Amino acid sequence: MSTKAQPRPRRLPQRSCVACRTSAAKRELVRIVRLPTGVVEVDPTGKKSGRGAYLCRQVTCWEEALKRNRLSKALRTTLTEESRAVLQAFAATLPAEAPASGTPGR
Ligand SMILES: [Zn+2]
Repeated sequence: MSTKAQPRPRRLPQRSCVACRTSAAKRELVRIVRLPTGVVEVDPTGKKSGRGAYLCRQVTCWEEALKRNRLSKALRTTLTEESRAVLQAFAATLPAEAPASGTPGR
């Protein structure tokens, strides 16, 4: 039997933002997790166990998600005032808009 090396395309895991539905590589997005205890928090490492949802690194998506309860739906829970405050505080550290494309394509 010969074992031919087969090039296997490696796909990066893709996730989609719960606010704008854009899909991006997992590491491009920020994971929000609902821990088994019911606490909702930001999970920058993406390693915490629990139900997760993803958002872009854009404050607009976070505002949208909080305003329209997108996160509560995605996480199947109700966000407590405390969780909202934590998420808002995190959102405040994000850039207001997507990094401007300073490079004229081509
Ligand atoms: Zn988004």
